[in-house]
Amino acid sequence: MDKTDFSKRSFSYYPTKAIVIAKYEGGAWGKPEITADFNLSVHCFAGAFHYAPECFEGLKVFRGADNRVRMFRPEENARRMQSSAGYLDMASPSEEMFIQMCIMCVKANWEFIPPYESGASLYLRPVLFGSNPQLGIRNADDVTFVVMASPVGTYSGARELTPGTAVLSRNFDRAATYGSGHYKLGANYAQSLHAYNLAHKLGYRELLFLDSATHTYIEEFGSSNFFGIKGNTYVTPDSGSVLPSITNKSLRQVAADMGLKVEMRKISVAELAELDEVNSCGTAVVITPLCRIDDKPALESEIVTRSYNFGNPEQCGPVSRKLYNTIVGIQKGLLPDKYGWCLFLD
Ligand SMILES: *Cc1c(COP(=O)(O)O)cnc(C)c1O
Repeated sequence: MDKTDFSKRSFSYYPTKAIVIAKYEGGAWGKPEITADFNLSVHCFAGAFHYAPECFEGLKVFRGADNRVRMFRPEENARRMQSSAGYLDMASPSEEMFIQMCIMCVKANWEFIPPYESGASLYLRPVLFGSNPQLGIRNADDVTFVVMASPVGTYSGARELTPGTAVLSRNFDRAATYGSGHYKLGANYAQSLHAYNLAHKLGYRELLFLDSATHTYIEEFGSSNFFGIKGNTYVTPDSGSVLPSITNKSLRQVAADMGLKVEMRKISVAELAELDEVNSCGTAVVITPLCRIDDKPALESEIVTRSYNFGNPEQCGPVSRKLYNTIVGIQKGLLPDKYGWCLFLD
């Protein structure tokens, strides 16, 4: 492993040596098992393949400057998975079991935890899906829970925190008003894949979804939340169809500690003109600054109705950078972890 250059890794799949599996069958959880076999044996009539009873999580394990290994806020992921599974009316692991299996997965893949200097981390991907054979349309009775890991970086061919561009999605929605947007379901991603391809083909890094009922208010990006800095205020959308990001929650706390006002409220598209800094945020890269957002009638169209610009296109805004440095500082043991967000594994 010593020759591996973790610093050039992107947020992608990289192999490790073990995964952890537990099955819920006949109304009870079996014992979690560690295995080196990454191929699951799943019945072809399992609900997950047909009606998508599936949810997942994503969290990171960091090796700090002090060489100690910590997992960031796993209890938040455990609770969110319970909430997602609840929406699908299927069983979910207890908070304790979720965290225990995450720890088992890290310990079984210990040599894949990237060194501090690389800036990389061990990403954990817990997945929960309906696994009993079924054809009738109903919630899953049996579920399989798997925790897997990938040692990822945040390298994208450019300097970290290099601003990108985004486009508003007016002819594709991510989540319906009373739909599943608040839950971390694979199904939410399925319906954004095509729209993302269109946005990427046009050269945009990100796609920003609007409220599906009126296309007036900002919701979030396909896999990350939206936040803006407006003077001395941190603003982020309040919506029942936005995924409650743990990164956003942490940033709101850090922003308040920095003396910023924190507002969770509706943000209209028009208000983009008043924002000083705009970012997407999520576990994968913490924050991605955006220097421009284009409004287009349709993703397939050549027409740009309006462009909103934010700050210097070469640089992350100063407030966003400070927020980023604080979160990363806590994750890497460079700053005091005053809220006990890190779970130490050694
Ligand atoms: C996972 C996810 C996020 C980011 O959540 P974090 O807990 O910060 O990683 C944001 N939006 C969507 C749609 C997501 O699935």
